[in-house]
Amino acid sequence: MTNLEYGRNNKGGQTLIYKGFEFNRHRETASGTIHWHCSKFISLNCRSILHTKDNKIIREPSEHSHVNKICEVATHKLSNEMKINMSCHGATARTVMQIFSVFTSNYLEIS
Ligand SMILES: [Zn+2]
Repeated sequence: MTNLEYGRNNKGGQTLIYKGFEFNRHRETASGTIHWHCSKFISLNCRSILHTKDNKIIREPSEHSHVNKICEVATHKLSNEMKINMSCHGATARTVMQIFSVFTSNYLEIS
């Protein structure tokens, strides 16, 4: 059972944090299903949406068009141990490789 984490965006709207991505509340249907849009819906043209009902995920978010910032931070924190968490907030192999290559170049510069 996943605990849903709610917050507020800087406009006072309700947000939902799920797997490290932030979603803005979009609308609620007559049946009580709440639709959430990725917070990068406009700025990065991300079309990832998710649906909840009674505080449960009833539709998993579709794929994001961008790397999750929270995930990047978490990965950088772990980078000393050279750990890349593949399950980190829905990261795909490609995004992990992007993070890893950035990390590797940073690592090589300081060593
Ligand atoms: Zn997104």
